[in-house]
Amino acid sequence: MCAASPRGRYRVGYGSRVIGKRIGWVAAVAAALLAAGCGSDHHTPGHARHVAAGPEPSGTAGSTRAPSPAPALHGRVIVVDAGHNGGNFQHTRQIDRLVDAGGFRKECDTTGTETAAGYEEAAFTFDVTKRLTALLRADGARVVLTRHDNHSVGPCVNERAAVGNKAHADAALSIHADGGPADGHGFHVMYPATMSGGKKAQAASHRLAATVRDAYRHGTGLPAADYIGTDGLNRRTDMAGLNLSTVPKVLLECGNMRNGRDAAKLSSPTFRQRIAVSLDAAFRDYLS
Ligand SMILES: [Zn+2]
Repeated sequence: MCAASPRGRYRVGYGSRVIGKRIGWVAAVAAALLAAGCGSDHHTPGHARHVAAGPEPSGTAGSTRAPSPAPALHGRVIVVDAGHNGGNFQHTRQIDRLVDAGGFRKECDTTGTETAAGYEEAAFTFDVTKRLTALLRADGARVVLTRHDNHSVGPCVNERAAVGNKAHADAALSIHADGGPADGHGFHVMYPATMSGGKKAQAASHRLAATVRDAYRHGTGLPAADYIGTDGLNRRTDMAGLNLSTVPKVLLECGNMRNGRDAAKLSSPTFRQRIAVSLDAAFRDYLS
């Protein structure tokens, strides 16, 4: 539960911002065209009223250039951490070695789970990361990744946290899919109970978790997990990648790969694009 970011705030805030931006853009282009004597006959009277009510384009009178606003995430640094790696399966000794996890030691990395049909979590997380990265970069963000292919090993969970710290990221997101009980359904977002970044980073991570939860539920239609967490949120003390972070960071379990219904969705490229669009919206909302 998070009073700071209830579900309703996301829907109203994000939707109204997008609509406002679109009206502004349409008005600016239409006004520029009219000024240049380029009125189009397929515009209905309704459109004309819409345009007249919009803001004036900036620039000198008579200019034919529409203003181009800065992209929504211009100047922001976002770390996207694709969970696991395709080469982990063949290098178990390497990923089994223990590393600092924030006051205790834990395995460097794990192989991750897979669907009953054999679609591996590492491939899933890498695909979603590629899709999300393209959207974030189009929004003007500087995106930093923790891995660049799906056939290598690691990096270890402590190194994944270090990538975000070194980049002084405005926000960091680890992407995973769960290997829960076969009858368990839905997604959840993990956030840290304690962090290297202290209470400020913890509070920011809690807000990021709620924002990701709201955007993901709204954008994908998947429900919050019915087998773990509370209303899609899961406070953790055992996640090295979260514990060691000095920047706002959460971990999203996009669904349960061991559940037939979730697995069918996660295996669909169309659904993975919906995931990416939802997460892009989450960052826009969180960093606005
Ligand atoms: Zn995982």
